[in-house]
Amino acid sequence: MTLTENPRPTIREPEGIWNRAFSYHPFTPVLERAEGIYLYDEDGNRYIDASGGPMAVNLGHGDPRIVEAMTKQAEKFAYCHPIMSNRPRAELCERISQKAPGSLNTTFLASGGSEAVETAIKVAREYHLNRGNLEKYIVISRYESYHGMSLGALSVAGVAGNRNAYTPMLTDWPHIKQHSERETPPRMDPKDYAVQCAQELEEAIYYAGEQYVAAFIATPLAQGRDYGLVPPPEYWQAIREICDRYNVLLIIDEVITGWGRTGKWFGMEHYDVEADVMVTAKGIGSCYAPLAAVTVSDEVNDAFADGGHFTHGYTYSGHAVACAVGLEVIDIIEKDGLVEHSAAVGAYMHEQGKALLDHPTITDIRGQGMLMVPELVSNKETLEFFSPEINAEERFQSIALKNGLALYSSLWGPRRPQNLNRGLPMFIAPAMITTKEQVDEILDALDRSLTEFESELGVSG
Ligand code: PLP
Repeated sequence: MTLTENPRPTIREPEGIWNRAFSYHPFTPVLERAEGIYLYDEDGNRYIDASGGPMAVNLGHGDPRIVEAMTKQAEKFAYCHPIMSNRPRAELCERISQKAPGSLNTTFLASGGSEAVETAIKVAREYHLNRGNLEKYIVISRYESYHGMSLGALSVAGVAGNRNAYTPMLTDWPHIKQHSERETPPRMDPKDYAVQCAQELEEAIYYAGEQYVAAFIATPLAQGRDYGLVPPPEYWQAIREICDRYNVLLIIDEVITGWGRTGKWFGMEHYDVEADVMVTAKGIGSCYAPLAAVTVSDEVNDAFADGGHFTHGYTYSGHAVACAVGLEVIDIIEKDGLVEHSAAVGAYMHEQGKALLDHPTITDIRGQGMLMVPELVSNKETLEFFSPEINAEERFQSIALKNGLALYSSLWGPRRPQNLNRGLPMFIAPAMITTKEQVDEILDALDRSLTEFESELGVSG
């Protein structure tokens, strides 16, 4: 089925009621309702939610089972007084421990990924304090990483464009290079290069002083320039070994990759490597409610057992309606076989998606499962993106909307910092319920959008 064409949207001018929300930069269509993978605006135009919102609407919109679970919980109580026992929270934490790998059994709940990353950093610090390693506080991370927008999360983030305005307010902790296939030196085995990149962690620990390093945080897949790159298992095995050798906790940020997106329950299951602390968000609430989880290993949790209090808490940790959503989401993923579906339909999407490489503006396609990341460039030889005054990202998004595709982006528009002479990662991450036919619809609309974009910008093969 081919999508009908919509009017070509523009960026909304901030005026009237649209002027009252801080830092607001959407396109003009006003969302009226959403169902499955489809969004409908107030003028009746239909769009496919091709990125699952910000890679987060994993079950699609409007699932009546989740609406019912929310309603039932809200009718009983929406929020549990913190002095009383909160059964939905206990049940959700128990359910998470059944699904999380290995000994990741105990969970602190939060409302979003940034809050959860902050929590994980604090867990690492207090774990070491409780174990008598009073000097350990540094968290090493990777250049180009994104772990959220709060100040702690920005401290461990590596995207310069997000950090620069706040640099004096951030901790000055070390970052290491992330693995990049493109940068593999000639004649070197890519696996050896990946291990070499992992070994940078050992060097960073050495220079920071091993007695000061509390944790290393990273996402299972690469971010930034190489967004979506799947490292070889040797990469993660080397990182795990280094963390063990220096008593450094491994915090894995599964905010995007968790809860089925990559074709396994959690991204790290592809490598058979277990984290000490796992951060999940987005998919666990599938955007029906703000929900995130920080799940720690028994070893980490034991350090808090002998009266070691965790000095932390949020008003909305374990919000009852959010917990009801989380419980229902996990049930649906299981009952509907969505992890297997994500693996199968994801493989189909990656196979069919290869045809996009025929476009002069698509240089590489990375990702795993229901996350496909084509890299959009102005020139396949140099890999550069278009210069900022061309507004290429917005123009591409508006053409895609016209062709019925709503795509998440870096949201920088023309202010987007140039990515060290690399292109723009496009996030194709529809809900895990997407069928093969719907994948065809998405790829067809993407293909047409690219052709139109190339002709508008005068790019030829
Ligand atoms: N970590 C990763 C890997 C993310 O992609 C994001 C958001 O995109 C976050 C953390 C922050 O999550 P949130 O926006 O819910 O605060």
